[in-house]
Amino acid sequence: MKFCPKCGGIMLPREEDEKKYLVCMKCGYKMRLEVEDKNKYKLSYEVSSEKKVVTAKASQAARGGITPEEREMLQEYYEILLEELAEEESESSAD
Ligand SMILES: [Zn+2]
Repeated sequence: MKFCPKCGGIMLPREEDEKKYLVCMKCGYKMRLEVEDKNKYKLSYEVSSEKKVVTAKASQAARGGITPEEREMLQEYYEILLEELAEEESESSAD
């Protein structure tokens, strides 16, 4: 289960133009996921858990205008999502 970093609502995966998104059922918060992001973020996590990563997350999160607290939440959130994204890649059919 995925939750909106803004309002805590349930987020549903959606695909548009061959890109993956997560959209909040409650507030409509939309988050884009890309394979490139997965590699980039994963690498960042492995290389460093310091400010570089936080900055990358922050710029990503800034579009949604969220607070630092929500930003932290978003970091964990991303880790989970990116793992799931990787799984989706190896499986042609989820669900
Ligand atoms: Zn929301």
